Amino acid sequence: MAKLPKSPLQQLDAAHHLHPFTDSQALHHKGARVIERGEGVYLWDADGNRILDAMAGLWCVNLGYGREELVQAAEQQLRRLPYYNLFFQTTHPRATELAASLATLLPGDMEHLFFTGSGSECNDTVVRMVRHYWAEQGQPERNTIISRHNAYHGSTLAGASLGGMKPMHAQGGLPLPGIVHIDQPYYFGEGGGQSPHQFGLQRARQLEQKILESGPDKVAAFIGEPIQGAGGVIIPPDSYWPEIQRICRQYDILLVMDEVICGFGRTGHWFASEYYGLQPDLLCMAKGITSGYIPLGAVAVGARVAQGLISGGEFFHGFTYSGHPVACAVALANIAVMQKERLVERVHDDIGPYLQQEWASLGSHPLVGETRGLGLLAALELVADKSDNRRFDEDVGAGVICREHCFELGLVMRAVGDTMIISPPLVIGRLEVDELITKARQALDLTYQTLMK
Ligand code: PMP
Repeated sequence: MAKLPKSPLQQLDAAHHLHPFTDSQALHHKGARVIERGEGVYLWDADGNRILDAMAGLWCVNLGYGREELVQAAEQQLRRLPYYNLFFQTTHPRATELAASLATLLPGDMEHLFFTGSGSECNDTVVRMVRHYWAEQGQPERNTIISRHNAYHGSTLAGASLGGMKPMHAQGGLPLPGIVHIDQPYYFGEGGGQSPHQFGLQRARQLEQKILESGPDKVAAFIGEPIQGAGGVIIPPDSYWPEIQRICRQYDILLVMDEVICGFGRTGHWFASEYYGLQPDLLCMAKGITSGYIPLGAVAVGARVAQGLISGGEFFHGFTYSGHPVACAVALANIAVMQKERLVERVHDDIGPYLQQEWASLGSHPLVGETRGLGLLAALELVADKSDNRRFDEDVGAGVICREHCFELGLVMRAVGDTMIISPPLVIGRLEVDELITKARQALDLTYQTLMK
């Protein structure tokens, strides 16, 4: 393919900018895609191409681009109090108001919030918080945290350790001590001929095996995403979460739900824990809390752990930007818009079911082995042979080929191996869903042509 000359911005970028999760040499060869502006569910690149963003940025721009309410909330707060910290016996109105507002939206007895700047910081906070909690309970040896292979919990040392991404562990000697993993509930990829129900139970019971192996008095917590996002929108069989919760209770192990993607309406509920009937002890949120307009994360803390922390003396942990006032103001405005426009109900009753119905129609395509989804999350599996769902060899790169065709057609869809995934803004309209599906089908056709050449 002939290479286009790089623009001055692309040259500057290659000269000075190291990108996250990027093979820099490959990027320099191509030149970075330059995104200049966004409106609603659309982005515009530097060449003026309009692109439907079916990933809501990185699963976060839930209200879509260009929401004046969020801009004004940020502007007003920047003028009034652009920064102050929450350390040393101090608060500011927006942090307190946001904590109180989240307490009304969260499931169960989650009445307390600890603010962070990101999802990764939430998960680092979780590790320190649960170990501190158990130490205060007189059980400092309870410090093992169990997670899952192919989970994603962020890129900081604890976040990447909790995550189960092998390539991440390989860079930098992870996981940290005291963090162990069990297998994921990925039925399409690993179901091995069992029924979904049986498979869900079997994968959940690996938690019990791991607890027994580690020593029940050594395990502090289990952490999981309700639906694995970056791992490929992996929706566990219905039998999975109730069994995990049962095992956590039986062995008195804290249950931590990482709702950085699933929180804030993505599944048609404020939090996916409600959908699965879970009562976690800790719950992490970020991304959709501000629709990604400004960084913010929060760890919601249930009554049990909150009481332990409150009576446990000083918790030596916190960030300069914990509960940044501008971020909290944007989060409050974000929640107000979600409530005014009834976006969670809309995902549950209207646009979620519509998207899922249309997405399922892609299942008839010769390249598609399975479609699945919930709310405004969805995935499809590319297969070489539909009759037995045989996958393509890894070096074929079917997912990347499909993703590139999507871009050419003006659609952002993400590839996780050969799993294609979407997570569009919650404000997406029916006509925009139709456009998404049409473009996805065209991309599948083009991928088919490329692969069958
Ligand atoms: N947890 C989950 C479930 C995530 O999907 C992500 C980010 N994709 C993170 C944590 C990390 O969040 P951040 O990138 O804001 O640190």
